[in-house]
Parts: sequence; C-alpha cells; structure tokens
Amino acid sequence: MIIARSRQELQAALDTKRGSIGFVPTMGALHIGHRTLIEAARRENETVVVSIFVNPTQFLPGEDLSKYPRREEADFKICELSGVDVLFYPDVAGMYETDEVRVCAPDVRGFILEGASRPGHFDGVLTVVMKLLNMVRPSRVYFGKKDAQQLALITQMVDNLFMDVKIIPMETVREKDGLALSSRNVYLDEKQRVEALKLSASLKEATKMVMQGNLDAEKIKAAMMNLLQPLDVEYVAIVNRQFESIKEVVIGNTIVLVAARVGTTRLIDNVWM
Ligand code: AMP
Repeated sequence: MIIARSRQELQAALDTKRGSIGFVPTMGALHIGHRTLIEAARRENETVVVSIFVNPTQFLPGEDLSKYPRREEADFKICELSGVDVLFYPDVAGMYETDEVRVCAPDVRGFILEGASRPGHFDGVLTVVMKLLNMVRPSRVYFGKKDAQQLALITQMVDNLFMDVKIIPMETVREKDGLALSSRNVYLDEKQRVEALKLSASLKEATKMVMQGNLDAEKIKAAMMNLLQPLDVEYVAIVNRQFESIKEVVIGNTIVLVAARVGTTRLIDNVWM
C-alpha cells in the first residue's frame, strides 16, 4: 500500500496504476461500515484508493472538529489488510488555501434536516468531495446510505456539474443490536450506548408500521417520537429520494430519518423503504 500525503504523491502513485479506480473518501477512525465500502471497491475495481481527511470546512464552530477521533496507526493497518492500493492522507494545507472558490449546497435541499441543524455543513462536504474527486479521478466512488442527505447532495452535484463518476450507494452497517456504526459512537458511555438504541428502534417501529399498511407519515413520526423519548430529538422526517417531505410512505421511494442527541453526542440514522 502506498501512503500519499500530498497531491503530488497521490499523482505519482496513481501514475503507476492501470484500469478502473474505486475510491472511498472517509474521515478515518475506520470501522466495519467503512470496511464494507472498501471491500466493495476492492471487488469492483482494479485499483482502490481510500482517503482519510478530517475536513475542517464541514464542521461548524463549536462542533467536534478538534476532538474528532484520530487513529492513524489503526486506520493504516485496516486499509492495508483490506487490500487498499493507495491511501491518500493529506493535511489541511495541502487541501485548502485562504479565500477559495467553493461549492455551494442547493438553497432548499442543502438547508433542511442536517443542513438546518448544521448550516454550511454541506458546502464543506461538497467542496471537499469535489476536490477529492478531481484529484483521484475515480471510475466509481462509494458512499454510505447512513449519511443519506450527504449521498443525495453529492449525487445531485455530480449530476448538476456534469461530473464523470459513478456513485455507488452502500447499505448501512449496524451492530447486532441495531446501532448504526459511526466513528462518533466512541463518545458514548455504557449508559448512553443503550439510550442510543432508541434511534434504530424508532426506525424499526416505522418499518413495522409500514409493513402493517400504516403509511401515514404524521402517525409514523408520532410513534417514532414516542419511542425516542427522553432523547433530545433534532428531527424525525419522512421524505422521498429527492428529499421532499411526503404525507404518505411510497414503498420504493421513501427515506425515514432521525437525528438526536445522546448526552452531547449527535447521532443520525435512517431507513430506506
Ligand atoms: P465518515 O468517515 O463518517 O465521513 O464516513 C465515510 C463514508 O463511510 C461515508 O460515505 C459514510 O456514509 C460511510 N459510512 C459511515 N458509517 C457507515 C455505516 N455504518 N455503514 C455504511 N457506511 C457508513
């Protein structure tokens, strides 16, 4: 595995490779969710590139940028063992200069749900993904459905800006008890870890209601809110794949999402139906 710490080193590494490139952008603190993306990239491409970059522009002032988990040594091992060919590990100076051109998230879809709770977050996400895609120039790029709105907005960016890359959405990987894997789960103590299960439990309840034929979005949201108590819920939402709010679940075109704080840790989860 080649570790490239600058754009020049990345370019030199890629110059030695032939064929399709599968790319998995991450912020590190790698877990099985990330590994599933890397394994899919490994199966489907000749060369696999993973980036690890805790992108400062997607954190709002007061968020967890400085304490975001960093696990350089373990992450390098995981990448090596997963068959990654090139690990791109740039520093902030190698990614940004001051007074830059940036990508702006769309006015509506970029500023609802996650974008309402974290205004500006998606501008940072789209900007860094654009930079990374331009540097790696992959055939396929892998994103988790766990970050559903991020996936939708990146898909829209690729579409709107006529970019030439295939986006591969990947299912959310969960612990046995249902908790969606997240680098932020390490912030949870034992009691909070149990409370955090309310997110996936509320989504299971939504799925159960839909399977029983209860398609009314308000009723599903009310049942979820009930189960989420006493967590500090930021939103419960039911949208279509375009992230438009819907009154009735349509199987095959619905995403149910939840964001809540467990202690000071902000968690998100969703289910696609
Ligand atoms: P992050 O390091 O949190 O920025 O995530 C990097 C990529 O891994 C994103 O595309 C995420 O959606 C994806 N990811 C994070 N958690 C999971 C999970 N539990 N299952 C599947 N993919 C995930």
